[in-house]
Amino acid sequence: MEVRPHILSKISMDTFTLLGYSVGGEESVVVAPELDVCFDIGRCPHAALTANNVLLTHGHTDHSVGLVYYFAQRDFQGIEGGKAIVPKRLVDPLENLIRAWGRVDGQIPPYHLIPVTDGDDYEIRRGLIARCFATKHVPGSLGFSVIDVRHKLKSEFTELTGPELVEQKKKGVEITNRIEVPLVAYLGDTAADNYSDLPCVRDAKALLVECTFYEKDHLDRARAGRHVHIKDLPKILEGMNNERIIITHVTRRTHIGAAAKMVRKILPAELQEKTCFLMSREFAPKNDE
Ligand SMILES: [Zn+2]
Repeated sequence: MEVRPHILSKISMDTFTLLGYSVGGEESVVVAPELDVCFDIGRCPHAALTANNVLLTHGHTDHSVGLVYYFAQRDFQGIEGGKAIVPKRLVDPLENLIRAWGRVDGQIPPYHLIPVTDGDDYEIRRGLIARCFATKHVPGSLGFSVIDVRHKLKSEFTELTGPELVEQKKKGVEITNRIEVPLVAYLGDTAADNYSDLPCVRDAKALLVECTFYEKDHLDRARAGRHVHIKDLPKILEGMNNERIIITHVTRRTHIGAAAKMVRKILPAELQEKTCFLMSREFAPKNDE
């Protein structure tokens, strides 16, 4: 058996970086250090410990098993403030798990679980939120979009002086427009759905989308496990405005080079250029042969 070191792939966007590892059924974790979030936790690689906010999409072990280690290891290293933002229905079982493991370990690490559900906004820090949306995988499963929130002075007030603006505010006048810039959307595991209807997904600079299965005879597996089959991919990506589309969660049953060839065949040229596989580390499928 070939043993390879556990290395995270790195994708650099203009203002943030994505470091991740994602293989279907094995492990999924994507850290965005500048945004202080980790999408899913996988087996909690070292880089995941640095993010203060774990955004957990669902409870499958390959996405969630590192959570107890995350809290225990952060406690061991004296890093405070770790939080896991989790689908509401998982709070009780996760709490039971952390406490049970605490009994195994001899001490329960400090932990903070924040329940969220479809449509919730969670504030990561001032001006940065994670928006939760329902996904089609298991009951209660969620995807997350990290959004930069800015407030821009309305055009009719740009000529006013500082004191005049204060005056308007005192009168209760709304002098700014709220502008949302979605940075990265992570769908987690999901069957196909109309995600491009959601502005926080459609307009995200980077979109992480799972595409687990590729072979014709894996279509049944995709449907049974509520995953994306390559056949679904063109429809899912229709109408998306993302700068980068990053495919995650590819099964070990298909070689990633073969998967890249299939993606190249099935996607229109303009989508091929901006699409890559998280685990191939080379950009654009055309470089992957
Ligand atoms: Zn899953």
